[in-house]
Amino acid sequence: MFTYDRFVVEERASRDEWTPCEYCSRCVVCTGGVGFDTRSARRYREHYCSGAWRSCARWAVARAIGIDKVPDDLLPNDHDRADTYILEVV
Ligand code: SF4
Repeated sequence: MFTYDRFVVEERASRDEWTPCEYCSRCVVCTGGVGFDTRSARRYREHYCSGAWRSCARWAVARAIGIDKVPDDLLPNDHDRADTYILEVV
């Protein structure tokens, strides 16, 4: 799904020579798939998806168990919850 916000993420990434998150095309925060209110989703995209993806809780879980298994309602800043998913697989 192509969204304006996703375009913004990719545009910022190219302009600032940042690499967008590798999961942008499949993560609900980036695709606008479900759940998050518009303002929060935009804030997450601007902060995490377009630059600080290494500090995203969803990214950490995706790396550990796969993006398809990341719960849709896991917030990018919910590291405590992310840790519980990661600890289940290590
Ligand atoms: S929310 Fe996290 S995992 Fe999802 S696209 Fe953004 S940085 Fe990547």
